[in-house]
Amino acid sequence: MTARVLLPELTRRPRLPKGAVEQLSGTTMGTSWCVKLIATSSAQGQDIHRGVQRELDRLEAQMSTWKSTSALNLFNGAPAGNWCVLPKEVFTVLQCALHIAQDTAGAFDPTVGELVNRWGFGPSIRRPAVPSESELVDMRSRMNQRRISLDVNQRAALQPGGICLDLSSIAKGFSVDHIAEYLGTLGIESYLVEVGGELRGRGVKMDGMPWWVGLELPPTTNRAPSTPREPLIVALHDLAIATSGDYRRCFQEGGVRYSHIIDPRSGRPAQNGVATVTVLHAGCMQADAYSTALMVLGVEEGLNLATRLGLPALFVCHTARGLEEHMTPQFAAMLNSDHQD
Ligand code: AMP
Ligand code: MG
Repeated sequence: MTARVLLPELTRRPRLPKGAVEQLSGTTMGTSWCVKLIATSSAQGQDIHRGVQRELDRLEAQMSTWKSTSALNLFNGAPAGNWCVLPKEVFTVLQCALHIAQDTAGAFDPTVGELVNRWGFGPSIRRPAVPSESELVDMRSRMNQRRISLDVNQRAALQPGGICLDLSSIAKGFSVDHIAEYLGTLGIESYLVEVGGELRGRGVKMDGMPWWVGLELPPTTNRAPSTPREPLIVALHDLAIATSGDYRRCFQEGGVRYSHIIDPRSGRPAQNGVATVTVLHAGCMQADAYSTALMVLGVEEGLNLATRLGLPALFVCHTARGLEEHMTPQFAAMLNSDHQD
């Protein structure tokens, strides 16, 4: 089959590893995880499996919106004026999220939790439903009035009262980075880590081949019968990839489809025709957050911002003719000539 190939520039020649490919998997954060790595023995693989699951369980216990005792929910339930000391991983994710909120002028916003809940995509309301206009006005004005402050020295965040953090758009990417670092501390130099579709890879396999992954594309529908072009595959060497999609979680009401990506500026699910955004970045945390942010911004504003920030990003949009692609120059520059498998 013909595929389009994305090749990152290699800054160093990877060493050929010795051993065999081990594939480990499990569940975390309401989704699945998978790690492929070159291990020297299957006993080493089993040890690593336990270590990866332990680390992911720890992160889930910190950042889950679904667990009432998570550090995130303890912050969300804290009284107004309380400074909450956060675990260092949560603090890192929150710092990055607030930075990206600034970069995107609020299109991405980790304080979007109340809106996410009200639209039925969080833990509070079970059945998704469209809120009334006055509810939306109230929630947006509450969001605009409340500011979160950080104390870097104490690793603490100020709960001004009522802020509801939601890190679901970035926590999976962070977990991927965290597991990649964990594997590094064990001396593993060749791996592919995946949590809920977000991936990061390093090194090559025994035959010198990189870890190839296919880009996630929107499902085909009657309105968009075919994928726009040949599939895209990317060599993940010292690189992460994340995709955000309007189809991942959504509901229909009155003939309108509402997705779980909320535009905090309107208080409503983004409805800008973008089906997926894929972002490549050295860090999976950043790739994950920016892919969600660009979904909110839409193709025009999103392409401008991603280009300005130097992000390789691909937008796949619904049109009357089917699905259409738009990419930043940085993404186009990584596209190699067509490749036959
Ligand atoms: P992702 O699948 O990575 O795009 O993340 C989507 C999830 O992020 C949603 O299910 C919400 O929990 C949360 N979310 C929705 N809209 C936003 C937003 N504008 N900024 C930050 N997080 C959001
Ligand atoms: Mg995301």
